[in-house]
Amino acid sequence: MISYQESLQRIKAATSDFHLETQPCGLDDLLGRVLAETITSPANLPGFDNSAMDGFAVRANPKEELIDLEVHGNIAAGETPEAEVGSGAVQIMTGAPVPNGCETVIPIENVQVTADANGLPASIKVQGPILADQNIRRAGQDVRQGELVFSAGQKISAEHIMMLAALGISQAQVLTRPKISLISTGAELVDDPNAPLLAGQIRNSNQPFLATSLQSWPVETTQVTGHPDTKEQFLELLQHEISNGAQIVISTGAVSMGDRDFVPESLQEIGANIVFHKCKIRPGKPVLFAVLPDGGLFFGLPGNPVSAAVGFSFFVEPILRQILNQKEPETKMARLSKDFNKRAGFYLFAKARVFMKDSECQIEVLSGQQSFRIAPLAEANCWAELPEYLAEIKAGELVKFHKFAGVL
Ligand code: AMP
Ligand code: MG
Repeated sequence: MISYQESLQRIKAATSDFHLETQPCGLDDLLGRVLAETITSPANLPGFDNSAMDGFAVRANPKEELIDLEVHGNIAAGETPEAEVGSGAVQIMTGAPVPNGCETVIPIENVQVTADANGLPASIKVQGPILADQNIRRAGQDVRQGELVFSAGQKISAEHIMMLAALGISQAQVLTRPKISLISTGAELVDDPNAPLLAGQIRNSNQPFLATSLQSWPVETTQVTGHPDTKEQFLELLQHEISNGAQIVISTGAVSMGDRDFVPESLQEIGANIVFHKCKIRPGKPVLFAVLPDGGLFFGLPGNPVSAAVGFSFFVEPILRQILNQKEPETKMARLSKDFNKRAGFYLFAKARVFMKDSECQIEVLSGQQSFRIAPLAEANCWAELPEYLAEIKAGELVKFHKFAGVL
């Protein structure tokens, strides 16, 4: 049986030709999408020299004394300056373009204002020296016209949308969302959470898990209805999804050695290239990956819920990152808080919790590692990754971990 690393390498090699098309996408739909182009700035940001404070636009003055200045007019954000700064001052609001002659802006809280009969500032007194270049935001100080803003591969967040909007960029070229179909095998499954369970039936928990997990990816997910439990039923659904444009199919169940484990045989029958079936991991050993005859990708995840979750995090997500031009997350390590024994020879993905203690990141491998046990999965916040060669791991040893999506 091949190792986890080997299986991942094989999938990555087999998917190296899988490319997504690109499409234009408006700002409103850009959140979470992946840029397929480099974006350079069409403009300076700020677009013009403007005031960073409410105050007075003046010339600099080196004198170390109380300086009296007459106020000639005022200018607010959105206006264009009529007045010029000569020997006096122009009242200015935050964001207003600085008038000609303005060398610096003095904040209103730093001056004594004398008002005229209308209550408007007639003159100000300010303690010198008045230093040049204070409280002015210069054109292009944030982003210069022509400067690189984002590279291709950038996944767009709300902060990136702020940047694009500020630059007046209304759309960008992005990778299309790959179409993913989820097929849950197993006649025992019930989808409707309100339906009573008949003898031997269980609720479908894998499909909601996978569909929800995919929500943080720029993909288009179809939750296929029906629970095939024979090769014929499965092939019918699979062919239907392929002809409807599915580019990636993820199935759960029916990949082990039982009588009803028809996924490998079904794939062979349609001429798919089974890149590997089974690898030395726990849980999730029966996992399978194949390239479909039309070039689509097929992940056969095992049916046990924790195995399906491992299959998603450690097989599906790395490939989604590859095809969506995303980097692998950085390796994180934490100190084991309690001794943990495992069998050597398997790469173990263990339900675990990371936490801070004594200013140190520690990790506890939870009890209940069996692949049917969801309660410790719901309590966990990460996977501890314990490679094949490890057996007895002592408290205090550093262990690699992989945070669950959405965990801070
Ligand atoms: P299988 O790999 O099909 O033999 O399934 C292994 C175990 O996982 C069995 O106990 C199944 O009932 C269970 N199982 C399969 N699919 C699901 C699912 N979608 N949700 C919850 N449990 C499942
Ligand atoms: Mg089954």
